Amino acid sequence: MAIERTFSMIKPDATKRNLTGAITKMLEDAGLRVVASKRVWMSKREAEGFYAVHKERPFFGELVDTMTSGPTVVQVLEGENAILKNREIMGATNPANADEGTIRKVHALSIGENSVHGSDAPETAAQEIKYWFSDTEIVG
Ligand code: ADP
Ligand code: MG
Repeated sequence: MAIERTFSMIKPDATKRNLTGAITKMLEDAGLRVVASKRVWMSKREAEGFYAVHKERPFFGELVDTMTSGPTVVQVLEGENAILKNREIMGATNPANADEGTIRKVHALSIGENSVHGSDAPETAAQEIKYWFSDTEIVG
């Protein structure tokens, strides 16, 4: 298995409830290392650009509103098989369908306020890391 990097966000519903540490601990306990991290309050334009792949979906407006409603913690995670491992510890998009012990099962409020984001493939991980971080901000 390869050491990979993936992109993660702790979304506003979670930062508002002071869950940054609790969620980061779940990521670390799963064997992932935070190699870059910053707290950002994203603009509408940043949120629309980040989620451009979903722009035709009926929930796009709600998604942009939710993501700009408070601070987000953007992170780069590193570890063995990090992309898939992060998706596993996150749990299903809808917390009602998420496995026991996953971040979304434990912390998410709804499908729209589901506490975390994680890249879904190597290509999106590379794109999403680049969207939020310069190379010098990823410090190991
Ligand atoms: P994931 O975050 O699990 O990769 P998607 O890429 O399908 O899920 O969707 C991106 C985000 O859009 C979700 O995390 C969620 O915040 C929001 N979203 C997805 N589907 C819905 C929906 N039916 N209603 C409201 N928000 C949604
Ligand atoms: Mg997705």
